Amino acid sequence: MKILVLNCGSSSLKYQLFDMVNEEVLAKGICERIGAEGSVLTHKPEGKDKYVVEKPMPDHSTAVELVLEALIDKEHGVIDHIDDIGAVGHRVLHAGQKYSASIIVNEDVKKVVRECFDLGPLHNPANLIGIEACEKAIPGKPQVAVFDTAFHQTMPEKAYMYAIPYEYYEKYDIRKYGFHGTSHAFVSKRAVEFAGLDPDNSKVIVCHLGNGSSISAVVNGKCVDTSMGLTPLEGLAMGTRSGDIDPAVVQFIANKEGKDINEMLNILNKKSGMLGLSGVSSDFRDLWAAAEEGNKRAQMALDVFCYRVAKYIGSYIAAMNGVDAIAFTAGVGENDHDVRKNVLSYLGYMGITLDEEANNVRGPERYISTPDSKVKVMVIPTDEELKIARETKALVEA
Ligand code: AMP
Repeated sequence: MKILVLNCGSSSLKYQLFDMVNEEVLAKGICERIGAEGSVLTHKPEGKDKYVVEKPMPDHSTAVELVLEALIDKEHGVIDHIDDIGAVGHRVLHAGQKYSASIIVNEDVKKVVRECFDLGPLHNPANLIGIEACEKAIPGKPQVAVFDTAFHQTMPEKAYMYAIPYEYYEKYDIRKYGFHGTSHAFVSKRAVEFAGLDPDNSKVIVCHLGNGSSISAVVNGKCVDTSMGLTPLEGLAMGTRSGDIDPAVVQFIANKEGKDINEMLNILNKKSGMLGLSGVSSDFRDLWAAAEEGNKRAQMALDVFCYRVAKYIGSYIAAMNGVDAIAFTAGVGENDHDVRKNVLSYLGYMGITLDEEANNVRGPERYISTPDSKVKVMVIPTDEELKIARETKALVEA
């Protein structure tokens, strides 16, 4: 079966087409600047040259149509007919408290995605448009919604409740939800397999460190805590997000600078984190380069980042009363050996010892702790699209 995976962002649409016989990617690509001037589709068919289409994309429906055209294009396509696509898997940001697993899309599911517009104002509307565009373009094909929040729904009340008046939970479902769930699910499972742990007796911490970053604590395959919250703003310091902060800071700056709450949230989401601290970049490669040239703010931003990752790991070891394995993943977690080394330097008390040589090597899944380390530490590349394709196949064939 061939499965199309769609990830609709506020102004972008990423896609991959899988042949599930051998889980091979046949083509992938991205539509950018949807709804703006200069929309562009970059299509990368496996084994063929990149194909760039510059056409107006006023909305996600047009983008979906262009993606389907590219997939069946005589020269640049990878399938003969749209009907060759057996099912579509959609990455959907927020399901509130409704779904703790992926689900085949029907009218009820679309209603829940719509009801969660408030909780995911940038992504859920785009996700729904993507679903409806596929219903129109390839009618009758099953579609599956894979939610970013689903994996974290197993968190206990003590982990997800905010200590604010209970009525806000009752009235508006205000609580911690967590994100990157597909990645945390994929990587925690792989970590258990890779380390040969007993799936029913395992404690794993996943550090998904990318432009957006989050950490999760996973006991026996079930998430018990995670660092992102009602929105992806909570938790670690990130590329441009502040992460945890005293909420009173918002009022303080707003009063001093004459800003309203929306401007403040924009600052915390887009102008803070590594970018705000360093004044250099949100990209870790730029930060290390600047730090090496003696830029103290870039070094400070990196120190803040690593310190907070280490603190979260420490708190999750306490939450789980121990840990068997720690897995690093995503752009920074997979590639940045200096970040991993810095983070692990705080955890010597746990009997964690870094294998410097293994840490410095780029590559696939691997241990970066020494064989005698009390906790196994590893790098596990994440693959959210493959996970979405697998979940889609499993539900469609069930
Ligand atoms: P992601 O959000 O998972 O795609 O991660 C993207 C981020 O990973 C980029 O913004 C960079 O900060 C970081 N990154 C990617 N490649 C490297 C690398 N080779 N070394 C350090 N950081 C990297």
